[in-house]
Amino acid sequence: MASGSCDIGLIGLAVMGQNLVLNMNDHGFKVCVYNRTTSKVDEFLAQEAKGTEVEGAHSIEEMCSKLKTPRRVMIMVKAGSVVDQTIEQIVPFLEKGDIIIDGGNSLFTDSERRTKELAEKGLHYIGTGVSGGEEGARFGPSIMPGGDPAAWPAVKAIFQGISAKVEDGTPCCDWVGEGGAGHYVKMVHNGIEYGDMQLIGEAYQLLKDTLHLTADELAEIFTEWNKGELDSYLIEISATIFAKKDDDGTPMVDKILDTAGQKGTGKWTAISALDMGMPVTLIGESVFARCLSAIKEERVEASKILTGPTAPAFTGDKAEFIENVRRALFCSKLISYAQGYMLLREAAKEYKWNLNMGGIALMWRGGCIIRSVFLNNIKAAYDKNPKLENLLMDDFFSGILNKYNASWRKGLIAAIEAGIPTPAFSTALAFYDGYRTERLPANLLQAQRDFFGAHTYERIDKPRGEFFHTNWTGRG
Ligand code: NAP
Repeated sequence: MASGSCDIGLIGLAVMGQNLVLNMNDHGFKVCVYNRTTSKVDEFLAQEAKGTEVEGAHSIEEMCSKLKTPRRVMIMVKAGSVVDQTIEQIVPFLEKGDIIIDGGNSLFTDSERRTKELAEKGLHYIGTGVSGGEEGARFGPSIMPGGDPAAWPAVKAIFQGISAKVEDGTPCCDWVGEGGAGHYVKMVHNGIEYGDMQLIGEAYQLLKDTLHLTADELAEIFTEWNKGELDSYLIEISATIFAKKDDDGTPMVDKILDTAGQKGTGKWTAISALDMGMPVTLIGESVFARCLSAIKEERVEASKILTGPTAPAFTGDKAEFIENVRRALFCSKLISYAQGYMLLREAAKEYKWNLNMGGIALMWRGGCIIRSVFLNNIKAAYDKNPKLENLLMDDFFSGILNKYNASWRKGLIAAIEAGIPTPAFSTALAFYDGYRTERLPANLLQAQRDFFGAHTYERIDKPRGEFFHTNWTGRG
């Protein structure tokens, strides 16, 4: 089979594909591109890629013939069955040892399956998360590759070359693990993104409705927050959003309809958490909060019928209240990441992936939506103790939660008294209190299960693993 001079082929010239190609070209990699609608190849070469080394092809066969061996073909098409169809179309033009990379938002179980199926054909498969949207793809995304480890040395230079870098130059890209590990980590990343966004939304509503702040005042507060522990991309863009005015001079944010969209990766994280039996409550609440926001007409009707308190005029110390909300946000964020890492740990056990927990935090440190200074604390926690059972047991995490939890509660009490919904703040605190409670009421629950279904229970005065049944009614 013919081979050529291009380092990599890329299929799918929508927003992500185009930007990744230009990024690869900037870093000295020669790319050959193909797209189902071939006119997009010509348009891309004539416009965005004009003056670059990028080559085009009007068929997959032509594209593969222009690649160096082992051939590297990256797919950036719509996630789902389109990826399988595209793989089927590429395979006839590849040889043993060639590599297919899927950089879309694929479900990890699909990547697990595709890695195995292609290995049987002698082909290497990589399923990689690519985060950071259009801007990240163009100038440095966070890249989370998993799949067939034999393929990693052949793509490492390209991926690490185009990825975002942290301050010391470390790339936000490293090998994540086998099979679907890369897409799993990307999925959890997206779930955490849902959580971070929901938490910021709750802080916004709490501040706005309690202190009756203007968008400009909110912009100032978020700008200030971005200088400290909360320093992150999402806090930064929120400050910019608050400051943005519509053409009539009023805040743009106030003009936007309050119904949230979603593409499914948050839902996948919550489903996986349920499958694994892990209490990833904050991401679950964040998905449900988007669902609740989406039933706008029903909420409008309900707002006319169902009553509750409204925020009273604020009489307390404004600065102290803002600080309580900041601490509530930071504590809840700590819980969310701890829950996300609990899920990663469990998935690694279940799927036998050797996940590098600290390395994952570093991959999220730049290039992606959840990038934040705080991720350094996660990396440090795993550097200190690579076998750390739970992030909440790390000194940094426990120190912050012990110091801030009284303020977190005050922020929540204000929300409850004012009738302001704070599902993510609340579930985070409920998790915190549950996690640190030695004896939960599950003893009663076990008694009930034994009562109606003879499900048996363990006793506190007997060894674990011994099960008992009681005749609760005395009837025979
Ligand atoms: P997209 O809108 O998800 O997909 C469009 C691309 O898929 C086009 O190249 C299109 O070709 C191709 N396609 C659609 N149906 C096809 C079919 N039946 N057969 C062959 N090709 C088909 O593109 P995107 O937004 O650039 O995203 C690409 C991947 O990256 C997705 O998995 C997405 O979830 C993921 N992702 C996106 C972002 C983002 O910010 N957009 C961020 C991270 C990850 P035609 O031009 O011929 O229609």
